[in-house]
Amino acid sequence: MRFQYDHDLHIHSGLSLCSKDPEQNKENILRYAEEKGLHTICITDHFWDEKVDVERIPWYFNQNYPHISQILPLPKSDKVRYLFGCETELSKDMVLGLSKERYDLFDFIVVPTTHLRCEPLTISKEEGASAVRRGQLWSERLDAVLSMDLPFHKVGIAHLLCGLMANPDELLQTMQNISLLEAERLFKKAANFGVGIEINADDVKHFEDETKEISLKIYQIAKESGCKFYLGSDAHHLRDFETCDERFAKAIDLLDLTEEDKYFGY
Ligand SMILES: [Zn+2]
Ligand SMILES: [Zn+2]
Repeated sequence: MRFQYDHDLHIHSGLSLCSKDPEQNKENILRYAEEKGLHTICITDHFWDEKVDVERIPWYFNQNYPHISQILPLPKSDKVRYLFGCETELSKDMVLGLSKERYDLFDFIVVPTTHLRCEPLTISKEEGASAVRRGQLWSERLDAVLSMDLPFHKVGIAHLLCGLMANPDELLQTMQNISLLEAERLFKKAANFGVGIEINADDVKHFEDETKEISLKIYQIAKESGCKFYLGSDAHHLRDFETCDERFAKAIDLLDLTEEDKYFGY
């Protein structure tokens, strides 16, 4: 059976600093899910645990637990399972913004490894200036996360091809510097741990731009390595949900995904 768009595990609310949209609230997000017939959604606001040295990453100073947990309790619905998660961060020195004692508070944890244009938080100025280095960091950062002691059954790796990987004119060069052999090794490890790999609505546009060959290849390697996939709109505003049908359908078709390829760790 073809992979169904029946869930969305990466959604920001107005509590994320880069949304701040009062319309992007828990009730409106639930309405989107009910209208689309989704059975599971997850709120994943940007989060840096205040129990982890927050000086490392000042952008996240207010994206702490007291802040993101203001969304609780989530409304109940007969049709939709409404999960509470977070999108944490990996600093440039490979520290994750999530302490062990908080693992149990989240139903699902999105870990981004590709926020590579956020100097000097996730990458040094010097490394950020080099497409070769950013390509290497794609693997090194994924490797660092997969070497941590995390509750992997409820961890998802966000946007493999994030727009924050490089400036648009350097995106192709950055992707071309990703070692596909290393990608295969890491995806096999991720598959073994039961980690979910995200199909991010925004990433799907790369399947049609000048990077399409390498973009698709990376996801195909993940599939061939046995990884399971989940869908993430990464919506920051209600309008972001509008393009999801088309984008997810494209990714599902191009990758020829079936229900067998679906991540069910949440
Ligand atoms: Zn992200
Ligand atoms: Zn996000």
